[in-house]
Amino acid sequence: MTKKITIAIDGFSSTGKSTIAKQLAQKLGYIYVDTGAMYRAVTLYAMQRRYITDTTFEVEKLIADLPTIQLSFHFNKELGFAEMFLNGKNVEKEIRTMEVSKFVSPVATISQVRKKLVKAQQEMGKNKGIVMDGRDIGTVVFPDAELKLFMTASADKRATRRYKELIDRGDAVNFKEILNNVQERDRIDSTREDSPLTKAKDAIELDNSDMGLKEQFERIMSLVNDKLNKN
Ligand code: C5P
Repeated sequence: MTKKITIAIDGFSSTGKSTIAKQLAQKLGYIYVDTGAMYRAVTLYAMQRRYITDTTFEVEKLIADLPTIQLSFHFNKELGFAEMFLNGKNVEKEIRTMEVSKFVSPVATISQVRKKLVKAQQEMGKNKGIVMDGRDIGTVVFPDAELKLFMTASADKRATRRYKELIDRGDAVNFKEILNNVQERDRIDSTREDSPLTKAKDAIELDNSDMGLKEQFERIMSLVNDKLNKN
């Protein structure tokens, strides 16, 4: 049987983690898991029940509901990746709005939320052959991952990418608002008490501000091949 490894990709918001993770998973025939989608789905749930609004944040109510919140991924053959379902409903589009982006980092500070999602993520990766992206994959979810990457890029480049993504989807967004959101999420994610975003000691840092997708992919594939060829 060919050797399978675990690939953990962490980094700041909109550094292109999911794009590269999807490509790697496709090339290697691995499972791809976007853990940000899981935090976004829990946030959408909290928004739907108005537990989180511009003026309220009813943490205890969200914690009480956690056992009933069902998250699952379903592979979409046409798109070539798995879509996020919340309590049986496809929420892939709804979780990518600016509104969800605004509330997701505060929700991700809640330890009980993290505990539930980390457990599910570890279960999905127990047989290796997985590419997972997020903020705490190399530090908390899979501290023994064979390959850990930490992606960075300038805030301006990241906001530009995110802006293009949302405009392409047809959302009416404003660049400044996106730049502020990316910076604010990075601030909350890096300073929270439980599992803050930080580079694992053994992670390889990749600044892709001025790197094309092809170059990035080739560089990472050569790191993957090094790991696969190692006993
Ligand atoms: O990856 P994405 O930008 O969609 O993640 C949305 C948010 O979810 C992050 O800003 C962060 O607050 C949270 N998150 C997290 N831990 C992860 C993945 C995402 O706290 N492993």
